[in-house]
Amino acid sequence: MKCLICGMKISKDSYDLNKHSFVKGNLDGNIIFCPFCGVENLYLDCEKEIYKISSDYLDEKTKKVFDMAMKLEVFNGEFYEEASRLAKSDKVKNMFKDLSNIEFMHARIRKRLGGFKKLPKLRKPDYTRHDTDEKLIEEAHKREKHAIVFYKKYSDKIANDLVKEVFGALADVEKEHMIITQR
Ligand SMILES: [Zn+2]
Repeated sequence: MKCLICGMKISKDSYDLNKHSFVKGNLDGNIIFCPFCGVENLYLDCEKEIYKISSDYLDEKTKKVFDMAMKLEVFNGEFYEEASRLAKSDKVKNMFKDLSNIEFMHARIRKRLGGFKKLPKLRKPDYTRHDTDEKLIEEAHKREKHAIVFYKKYSDKIANDLVKEVFGALADVEKEHMIITQR
């Protein structure tokens, strides 16, 4: 089985990857989410082709939205990477590590669909002021909330139905992240 959004193959060895980023993870024989990008199982299929968009068909506005979205995913992916390093408890560390993997996968999806050559290099802020797990989780929750508002706002500016669908599917993953960072 493969994911039509991120293109990754899901097998017995990979179904429970990134399980700390889900409220209720996949079980062997009951795959609810793509373990790589987090989208729902309606995007998982054995036969269908993965979603492709020729970037020649994208108008400038849509490309711009892709670019901003890709940067936001990298920004959040890097935050989670650092948060996983800074967190004290193993439980929180694992959650941040898995969230980081998912956000970077989102960035790669946007890179591929938006026709970009590479992921952006961003300035890395200093996150050490978030010196407790609670503060890190609070910051994570804020970011997920912001990402959802961002995707909702910009998906209205996208004319291409397939692109809109991908944005919707990925925004739903961030909703799941908002729930797991609520505690
Ligand atoms: Zn996927």
